[in-house]
Amino acid sequence: MKKKEQHIETDLSHLGEDRLSYSGAVVTPIFQNSLFTYESWDAISEAFDDRTNSFIYSRGNNPTVKVAQQKIAKLAGGEKALLFASGMAAISASVLHCVEPNAHVIAIQNLYGPANNLLFTYLKKKMNISVTFVSGQEVSEFEAAIQPNTKLIYLESPSSGVFSLQDLKGVAQLAKQKGIKTMIDNSWSSPFFQKPLSMGIDIEVHSCSKYIGGHSDVVAGVMISSEATIDSIFRQEYEWIGGRIAPMDAWLITRSLRTLPIRMKVHEQNAMAVANYLESHPAITIVNYPGLKSFPQYELGQQQMAGYSGLLSFQLKTTDLEQVKTFFNSLEIFKIGVSWGGHESLIYALAISYIKEMTAEQFAATGLAYGDMRISIGLEHVEDLIADLEQALDKIK
Ligand SMILES: *Cc1c(COP(=O)(O)O)cnc(C)c1O
Repeated sequence: MKKKEQHIETDLSHLGEDRLSYSGAVVTPIFQNSLFTYESWDAISEAFDDRTNSFIYSRGNNPTVKVAQQKIAKLAGGEKALLFASGMAAISASVLHCVEPNAHVIAIQNLYGPANNLLFTYLKKKMNISVTFVSGQEVSEFEAAIQPNTKLIYLESPSSGVFSLQDLKGVAQLAKQKGIKTMIDNSWSSPFFQKPLSMGIDIEVHSCSKYIGGHSDVVAGVMISSEATIDSIFRQEYEWIGGRIAPMDAWLITRSLRTLPIRMKVHEQNAMAVANYLESHPAITIVNYPGLKSFPQYELGQQQMAGYSGLLSFQLKTTDLEQVKTFFNSLEIFKIGVSWGGHESLIYALAISYIKEMTAEQFAATGLAYGDMRISIGLEHVEDLIADLEQALDKIK
């Protein structure tokens, strides 16, 4: 009988871990070394012949890093993965690989802020890159934005700001016809719930500081693609810009990957229950969560995602800043902070950064309200999370 293909949970536990070569240790050790030594001229010379796979110097490959990379590549359905020191290091290496001076990029509006700054401010100034922003709701918008020098389409679906989706198969098909590379920031879904490479997207990136890490104890990033693309990036942007992950952080990522499937299922269950609770609450006007039937792109989400993570937003009915602050400051389990995707539930309000830089009129013109809240639903018991929201909402009745 043919052996059945193993399930991903099993691979995340064991794939890539050659335990007998390190005394049977059940967890791969942290190879905390900068270089690797060889027994002869010929041996190190052979290693250089296959430098994208050899252990020569830890700015390139390292055994602890390689274990995590193999697991993530398998999980995402890609041929190879590269781990970076941060999500932004993975994003900047991918973008730089795809563009050249005077190139044009199509990106979605509401892109993750630092990625927006990289493309629109930094690369515009340094390399004369031009960017067209589209809402991304229709494939035809991408088609209409294509120029003769378009080299890259940059996606984020769902986006981490407003959770808008793009039709990944449709955009990938269009880009392939026109010879344009596509990349996606897939951090919101995690590689467990959405597989962009299987839909034809060229490069998938994640901030591992979110769900892949999941414990709020590591900042890291990853890129997954074909072997040819990853090896080409390895020999250029990875080795020359040098944003590689440290072995200790890669070890934490391997630790996290073993529980990613069970964590994502609980984030989804908890977030769905919180979203339903908030949607039915009279003090709340709208809940933005792709898992809700009321979400405008619910159908597209059902087609291209296998599940929904724990990041969502909602708007308090009150427009009074003091009331908003009372709600915000009354939460006990939800911690106040940026970022998301960890074990702990978090809250943040966009107005906190915006109102520093804007007048009340300018703020109103953004379409945002003081009561716009973003929450990351963690792994605590969902009844405790709902009770915490309830007692804080009761204070502004
Ligand atoms: C946090 C984040 C990033 C950047 O990741 P870092 O690990 O902080 O560099 C990129 N994209 C999205 C959507 C994020 O939320």
